[in-house]
Amino acid sequence: MAPPPAALLLPALAALLAAPAAARAPPRSIAVVGAGLGGSAVAYFLQQHFGPQVQLDVYEAAAVGGRLATLTVNKQQYESRGASIHALSLHMQDFVKILGLKHRREVAGKSAIFSGEHFVLEETDWYLLNLFRLWWHYGISFLRLQMWVEEVMEKFMRIYKYQAHGYAFSSLEELLRSLGGDAFINMTQRSVAESLLEVGVTQRFVDDVIAAVLRSSYGQSVLVPAFAGAMSLAGAQGSTWAVEGGNKLVCSGLLKLTKAKVIAARVTGVSLHSSEGRALYQVHYEGSEGQGSAFYDMVVVTTPLHPSRSNFTFKNFEPPITDFPGAFQPSVTSVVHGYLNSSYFGFPDPKLFPFASILTTDTPDLFFNAMDNICPVNISAAFRRKQPQEAAVWRVLSQQPLDKQQLKTLFRSYYSVQVTEWQTYPRYDAAKSLPPIVLHENLFYLSSVEWVASSMEMIAVAAKNVALLAYNRWHQDLEKIDQKDLMHKVKTEL
Ligand SMILES: Cc1cc2nc3c(=O)[nH]c(=O)nc-3n(C[C@H](O)[C@H](O)[C@H](O)COP(=O)(O)OP(=O)(O)OC[C@H]3O[C@@H](n4cnc5c(N)ncnc54)[C@H](O)[C@@H]3O)c2cc1C
Repeated sequence: MAPPPAALLLPALAALLAAPAAARAPPRSIAVVGAGLGGSAVAYFLQQHFGPQVQLDVYEAAAVGGRLATLTVNKQQYESRGASIHALSLHMQDFVKILGLKHRREVAGKSAIFSGEHFVLEETDWYLLNLFRLWWHYGISFLRLQMWVEEVMEKFMRIYKYQAHGYAFSSLEELLRSLGGDAFINMTQRSVAESLLEVGVTQRFVDDVIAAVLRSSYGQSVLVPAFAGAMSLAGAQGSTWAVEGGNKLVCSGLLKLTKAKVIAARVTGVSLHSSEGRALYQVHYEGSEGQGSAFYDMVVVTTPLHPSRSNFTFKNFEPPITDFPGAFQPSVTSVVHGYLNSSYFGFPDPKLFPFASILTTDTPDLFFNAMDNICPVNISAAFRRKQPQEAAVWRVLSQQPLDKQQLKTLFRSYYSVQVTEWQTYPRYDAAKSLPPIVLHENLFYLSSVEWVASSMEMIAVAAKNVALLAYNRWHQDLEKIDQKDLMHKVKTEL
């Protein structure tokens, strides 16, 4: 047969050269350490990007759900930890939709701020009266706060657009800079008090209101960095929601959906090997049947690596992976089923006590940070909040475990007390620099985001970022990593 003329060959050759290189096969197996929201969400997003053929192993040392675990009082389950989700949490909203879960019915309840001697601010049933009281006590500080938080949130929401277009960030600094420029980086280095005073919020408002919100969320003072503070204040200002049946259902649901294999074992470390010129990670673990290990193409760590939280070891890495400075904030949650001692709060008649949630100012000797009358995770249409004179379930947040005398101060009597001692959040005032996301070629650290701010949605955003980053790096799609001027790019992309 005569060879085809060159004129016919040239277009075919040009087409071949223009075609993208054959796509790299996906990783064979990925290990995820931890089955809290971070681990479940990253397993889901990794599968979305790499496809269902990738083997996903999720290691969990305790229970699926992690910090979203519930506890049981009187045969009903209650959220003892991660309880409320901000209205603008788009990934959490998506998870609930995909999994066919429902929003829990909201049960109204009023809040107040307690100084240890009296209430410095009390919510009423009347919106206008609440506004008037805020204005009377603090001038227009609350409006300045609202504008400041809204500006931060508006910029933060850009992340959803970037992620929808497949863009990822290889460090927390790159992520923050692309959302809010250097101003967002600065917000991780200066305190929320400093930032708010600068925009005209009064010292009194900071001492009474901002301190109370930060004590109840992070268990820390107004020295928390401005970015973490803004996220916490956004949660306190806007409307929030929760998942009917418990927020932890998102974790079990996502793991079921991805058909990830959940391995009940504590990961003790990761060592690096290489095979055919590519990195291979050996995950070492100990479970009920002793120690074991398995090899993976990729690993995502979704539990804090700071020494106070883990004794994880990384072997054979050059440079070594060792340095995770900083500390975690100890905190205690006591879930008490009992009768509130309303006299302590200045209400001798318990029937007249109007509050479901009590925040506190930063007062020396005040032994608790916040307490709220909590509702079960399943709320029927007929459910009503307990009257203040009835026995109810209260969640008390404190720095130290409450002793008998302190319990007696808060409760006339009680049936049960369940205490959980935590290393809850990073000690934000001690944060010097942000930890890395990429620990090695295909080894990622999702929990590093907690040093920017810690909430369910922050973790979900970080999970999506890690999945996109892992995917883009695997396929060498460098144009989708750490791109500058993304707002402009996503506007002009189809
Ligand atoms: C008291 C409290 C109140 C909170 N309130 C809110 C709130 O109202 N709204 C909100 O948005 N957020 C809230 N949060 C924060 C929110 O709960 C967390 O940001 C989120 O749940 C963290 O999820 P995660 O998966 O990153 O970590 P975790 O939930 O801690 O998950 C990590 C998992 O890893 C497992 N693990 C640890 N080490 C190993 C190991 N070596 N091997 C294998 N497994 C391991 C752990 O057992 C755990 O299950 C609250 C947190 C606390 C503690």
